[in-house]
Amino acid sequence: MTPGKVWFVGAGPGDPELITVKGRGLLERAGAILYAGSLVSEAVLRWAPEGCEVADSRGMTLEEITGWLIRRASRHETVVRLQTGDPTLYGALIEMLRPLDAAGIEAGVVPGVSSAMASAAAARETLTLPEVTQTVILTRVEGRTPMPEGESLEELARHHCTLCLFLSITLLKKIREALLAAGWSEDCPVLVVQKASWPGEEKIVRGTLADIRERCKASRIHSQAMIIVSPALGARGRKEVKTSKLYDKRFSHRFRKAIAAKGETS
Ligand code: SAH
Repeated sequence: MTPGKVWFVGAGPGDPELITVKGRGLLERAGAILYAGSLVSEAVLRWAPEGCEVADSRGMTLEEITGWLIRRASRHETVVRLQTGDPTLYGALIEMLRPLDAAGIEAGVVPGVSSAMASAAAARETLTLPEVTQTVILTRVEGRTPMPEGESLEELARHHCTLCLFLSITLLKKIREALLAAGWSEDCPVLVVQKASWPGEEKIVRGTLADIRERCKASRIHSQAMIIVSPALGARGRKEVKTSKLYDKRFSHRFRKAIAAKGETS
């Protein structure tokens, strides 16, 4: 029998309805599923067919994970590695793909809704805002994993754009210091979302650089949380915001011709 294909599928941030249609289809026809139990909501496994082999990789090493996938690919046409959020972000994807390549096993990747987007959505915030910030940096703060040169938070924060900080909820003190050093003020808004989109478990905490650490402590948030720092936070409540050209009636584009405002010629 020719070996099957291993699919790295983004499970989305937690809500089982946030998996893609393609990801769900692969789960429905999978012969074996290995899911990252520490982060993927087990509720997503509701799409697994009867008789499908399901295992949690929580206590496995990289070699055990890739060995499991390779062995299952010799028995099943479709094997799924279910990853949290999007598999291309902090998902050890390359480390898992290389042994599969070496074993001659075909692999596919299905994107997922990242927790960065799910956290912004949970708080009804936008990550980009016209004339305020048009850039989003997805990053983390140096902990046990070293950051490459030029990617310290202080350096990245100098752009004053939106920062989505993964894997960094225990490092709020460091974040405050780096942002202050980069010229942000103590009263700049910070959003923390724990377990974004997990039914009944999501927590949203808002604060400033000065008090977010205390607020998270009070809400007992120590893990599985996204930190968003952005000049766009809280825009809904502001007196005035600049609007996007896309919907501006005086702005022509491929799908709509501009209408001149009163007293103006187009
Ligand atoms: N690939 C994932 C990220 C994995 S790294 C993605 O695209 O979202 C794990 C980190 O992601 C956690 O430390 C936390 O910062 C963030 N995270 C994952 N799921 C989350 C969720 N539901 N809510 C908030 N943050 C989450």
